[in-house]
Amino acid sequence: MLNQTNFNIGHTHIIVINKTTYNTNEAVNILKKVLLSSYLNSINTVDIIITKNFRYGILHLRKHSVKRSSVNSTNTYANKNIIYINPNEFNNPTKLNQILIHEIVHIKHRQINQFIRNRYEAKTKVSKFTHFIERKLNLLMRGRIKASPRLIKQLLLDIAEDFVLEGVAKIAEEFEIHGKLTHFNRHAAEKYSYALNMYLKQRQYSSCVKIIDEAMWTIGYYMIKDILEANPKSNLEKLMHLSPEKIINIHERSCHHLGRTPLISLNSGGYINYNSIIYNNKSN
Ligand SMILES: [Zn+2]
Repeated sequence: MLNQTNFNIGHTHIIVINKTTYNTNEAVNILKKVLLSSYLNSINTVDIIITKNFRYGILHLRKHSVKRSSVNSTNTYANKNIIYINPNEFNNPTKLNQILIHEIVHIKHRQINQFIRNRYEAKTKVSKFTHFIERKLNLLMRGRIKASPRLIKQLLLDIAEDFVLEGVAKIAEEFEIHGKLTHFNRHAAEKYSYALNMYLKQRQYSSCVKIIDEAMWTIGYYMIKDILEANPKSNLEKLMHLSPEKIINIHERSCHHLGRTPLISLNSGGYINYNSIIYNNKSN
């Protein structure tokens, strides 16, 4: 059975690698229909791997038994982009389109954002030293080692990055389907943020992981949505150039402007409050 093939859409070279029993020709036919050249521009090549085995998420802690898709590699040296897709998603082309946009936005985000690319390279062992910290972080989240102020700061950076990456991709998905932002109820994001702040302060890291796993799309979505609402001249493309810290800053200001409580803040006033978490971890 044919399990590898390739084709072009616009200037993008797409290599399909099928690791499942799903029909490769059928997958390619569907992909040709749903992959939009407008979203692919500026991406030279992308490997689409059809698989049921997914690696862990950004914090290397997530173990979704069933996952729809993920994007794991933007190795800037080899210029290799890989999207993993569950074959089940081919049953629904509209949803597949949505998923591909989401993952392609992740690729673009890393491409244009030096900050996120640096951190990503650290996580993928390009920098041995930072990789060492990431490993420690992993042990911390599993309750195997104690927190140090430095690790806590690293953890907070990782969480912020998760939120920003997922928020941007989620918003892009929604724009593509509805042409506007439709989710008006921010309440769930507020509840999750409140709980995450509490668990971070109490150093209950396994509970933190659960919340992040469940809520990063929701919290990220409203972080970005608040910004776009308060700044009509801004757009996703512009926000994708900024560091996660900068995004938190703008989110905070946007919320003050809109008369809302920020979901996350560096100094004070947000449901998640980075300064007070760091202070709390120093003090006892
Ligand atoms: Zn994502």
